Amino acid sequence: MKKVLLAQPIHKSAMEFLKQHAEVVLIKEGNLDDLKKHLVDSYAVILGTSIKFTSELMDVAHQLKIISRTGVGVDNVDVKAAMQRGILVLNTPEANSLSVAEHTVTLICALAKQVVYLDDQLRNNNYGARRQYLPVDLEGKTLGLIGCGRIGVMVAQKCIAAFGMNVIAYDPLLRTAPDGIFLNESIENVFKEADFISLHIPLIKSTRNLIDEKLLSLMKPSAFLVNTARGGIVDEKALAEKLKNKEIAGAALDVFSIEPPDIDNELLTAENIILTPHTAALTQECTARVAMEAVKGVVDHIHGKIPKFVYNEEGVS
Ligand code: NAD
Repeated sequence: MKKVLLAQPIHKSAMEFLKQHAEVVLIKEGNLDDLKKHLVDSYAVILGTSIKFTSELMDVAHQLKIISRTGVGVDNVDVKAAMQRGILVLNTPEANSLSVAEHTVTLICALAKQVVYLDDQLRNNNYGARRQYLPVDLEGKTLGLIGCGRIGVMVAQKCIAAFGMNVIAYDPLLRTAPDGIFLNESIENVFKEADFISLHIPLIKSTRNLIDEKLLSLMKPSAFLVNTARGGIVDEKALAEKLKNKEIAGAALDVFSIEPPDIDNELLTAENIILTPHTAALTQECTARVAMEAVKGVVDHIHGKIPKFVYNEEGVS
């Protein structure tokens, strides 16, 4: 049987399915030495986001044919190095969109209604907080999407259906606007006009620190920023500064430039912010869907079939 490495635990159902088709080795999450040791004779590795899969790791993996990501983002895999070595990179682009969209809408609601702040005040004997800080309604507010792919569109649909929000979006790669969404050619205009800005773009060279001091400065003082995409897209120092000076109303982040975030990351102590530890896709249903999709790709390849989602298809002969 071919050896398949798990860089982190996966859902039980997917694990059982994989065991029927391969020898499975689960390494301790984040343990690079253990990973390297087992990579030497592994056919495939199933990867979350906790390990950066570099060319150095690929160099020890002489028999590696597949890197299968349990998620859509492949920014922790050196895809170019994989292509040079003929290693397929698989991802699961459809399995987690719904859960990330729900998490994003939850953060938008929590920001608007100040759920976390008010909960904290009540527990700290400040019942008067109910009149000290008034939440806002979502009806008729403008949602500005940066990136309008699978997740962005789902967030828009939910915000339109549930709250009657207006949705504008900046996505230069889209030719036609999805239903109910107004495409704007200028990212600056989206930052100026939106009451809630939500990021749904991949982390690639051109989007690293795309959301910088200049763009953040265009936001209304009453506007909120939500990031469930990737931490590296936002200049965290600039965001912390804007929050500290109350130049924007607040932010909610599921992702950080370094994960887990450094203990001295100023965003951890900012007041008007809601933070979750990269959990948008970690629902009970989504972890099962994503793990099964990631495993199926590997099993298909073991049995000589072409996996459904090959990220670097064109580059591998
Ligand atoms: P997608 O590929 O369907 O959509 C991405 C969209 O971004 C595309 O429409 C593309 O045209 C657009 N885009 C690319 N570069 C852009 C730019 N510079 N400016 C504006 N738009 C640009 O991807 P998706 O499934 O919607 O996922 C979006 C991102 O969400 C992923 O790349 C991933 O990093 C992140 N994600 C996070 C979690 C989580 O757990 N928090 C889970 C899944 C995905």
